[in-house]
Amino acid sequence: MTERRSRRARKKAHKEAERKRPEYPRINLKSILYCMRIYRRAVGLRRYFFWFYRITTSIVPSITAILAGRVVNEIQRGINTQDFGGFIFFVALLLSVQFLDMILGAIYRMLAISTSQETYIYVSELIATKYIKIPLIMRESREFADKFERVRDFGLSIEYVSTSAITVVSALVGLASVIIATIFVSPAITIIIIIAAIPSSIISLRLAARNRRNWREYTKDRRIAWSIERKITNSDSALEIELNGLSHQFVQQMIKARRRSQEQDINDERAFFWPRFGANIFQDTINYAVLIVVCIEIILGRLEIGAFVSTRTLLNQLTNSISSLFSSITEISSSLVNATDFMEFMETPAQRSGDIEIHDIPTIEFRHVTFTYPHSNVPAIRDVSFTLNPGDSLAIVGENGAGKTTLIKLLIGAYVPDSGEILVNNQPLERINRDSYLAQIGALFQDYSRYDFATLGENVWFGNVEKPYSRKAIIEALEDAGLGDLVGTYKNGLNQILSKDIDSQNATNLSGGQWQRLGIARAFFRSPNILILDEPTSAVDAKSEYDIFRNIIKKQEHKSTIIISHRFSTVRRAEKIIVLDEGKIIEQGTHEELIEHNGVYKEMFELQAEGYT
Ligand code: ADP
Repeated sequence: MTERRSRRARKKAHKEAERKRPEYPRINLKSILYCMRIYRRAVGLRRYFFWFYRITTSIVPSITAILAGRVVNEIQRGINTQDFGGFIFFVALLLSVQFLDMILGAIYRMLAISTSQETYIYVSELIATKYIKIPLIMRESREFADKFERVRDFGLSIEYVSTSAITVVSALVGLASVIIATIFVSPAITIIIIIAAIPSSIISLRLAARNRRNWREYTKDRRIAWSIERKITNSDSALEIELNGLSHQFVQQMIKARRRSQEQDINDERAFFWPRFGANIFQDTINYAVLIVVCIEIILGRLEIGAFVSTRTLLNQLTNSISSLFSSITEISSSLVNATDFMEFMETPAQRSGDIEIHDIPTIEFRHVTFTYPHSNVPAIRDVSFTLNPGDSLAIVGENGAGKTTLIKLLIGAYVPDSGEILVNNQPLERINRDSYLAQIGALFQDYSRYDFATLGENVWFGNVEKPYSRKAIIEALEDAGLGDLVGTYKNGLNQILSKDIDSQNATNLSGGQWQRLGIARAFFRSPNILILDEPTSAVDAKSEYDIFRNIIKKQEHKSTIIISHRFSTVRRAEKIIVLDEGKIIEQGTHEELIEHNGVYKEMFELQAEGYT
């Protein structure tokens, strides 16, 4: 008794929980049409043939069913009348339809060979081209990163959605053709088999909606699983994971997250098992009853013998069309959950650019600039004013989090100030043509890039791909960055691949310091009018840093340089030094002036000097 009650209570609680879950996200036609538009552009004119083929092949089984019935009738008539003309005619017609179907199928397979790859390439290009135009401040946000992951997921399913949509349409046409064909056999049969198919169709639709909702609700768990999988399989984190004994723990966590993401689907499948079973039995029973009635009608002479062949084939075709219709709807619905994110992403406004071109070393002026990161209450930059004239060398010092990198990002136009102005040649930065401005700048950040997919030579050449790939210039840049020996040590010279993840056989891995110098070599190769170095030598020893900076000073003699560094041996050489603290400039001047001033700079300088004695 108590057990029954508790089971009932559990059921009630489950129902209540189900009710509280959000509504099923609807399949939205706009997203499907959007996917189809992209697919259309990717596959070009072939789409017309694809449509033609899918629609024709969905009608062929119904035509075949009717023709097969006619062939059987004509045989019987031939046996009775010795006139086989009708039989020959219908056999010829049947074979022609089959032959046409076969030819169309062969053409389809030939044309469809590379469409998946082509759509994939087209969509990747679309996403990447859009991504690089989106303002950096937006790309840096966590929400955007989450959204972008969904966008990429969705990109992969665009072809799927489109082909499934074609399948839905062709299944509907197939279904209509079955219905029309059964009317030829007997209109009563048509009505009965439609009624028989209703319960199972409703159940399939409800299950599809549940799957769609589950897919959306468990996005977080799927992402956790993917993220752990990437960490486990990425060689960058492998060593740390192994040393900390985390491998087993991570595998377990990944499996748990994956299970969680599947659990609800399995529960729903279970919940729908009996209703679906019942609906299928109902449909099959009625279908067999229809066949029996057809047999009786044939015996009674009210239907010709071919009606049996036609009805049987049409019933099969009906079941196939319905199941392909609902499986395609399910596929579409689970693939479409991220469609809105994709469409929003594609509509994100691009980084703005003005029309004033910059062709030479510009003067850059900050006037009372204040900037606050989104979701932060405290400004990262407060009321900052300074001028960088052509040929100046400027050093920025300050503790971690003082705002140095933020200042650089404002200067390159990646962020827009909340208040104050950034002027380039006395014009507001928004009015300057972005590409021409960035063409003057070369920057190397703390978290410098490792282009591990590329060769040693390309890693330097990427500093300026507008310049020709010159062996001589590349080797010179490597030498200036203290990597002159590297070329000789590799069998492949400049063509050496630098990551074992990319080419496990022939690649060599570089140390952190070597990668950093490679970044510096890239900056040397670019030889920009304004060189920005944000702690570029943190992984390089003091002696190498000294040599590298000597080279930088030589190369940048008449150009502008901005250096962020913690090493005062480097900082003191700058013509102008800015001391930042909590986003504010607290001191500025030359090294001598600041020492004279006897403030924070002097204190920091002496602290470091002590460290060396
Ligand atoms: P520094 O380069 O001097 O170490 P940053 O310019 O990187 O300092 O950071 C300045 C302040 O802005 C810090 O408090 C930091 O936590 C915050 N900050 C940096 N980047 C972001 C970001 N993308 N979103 C929110 N806050 C940030």
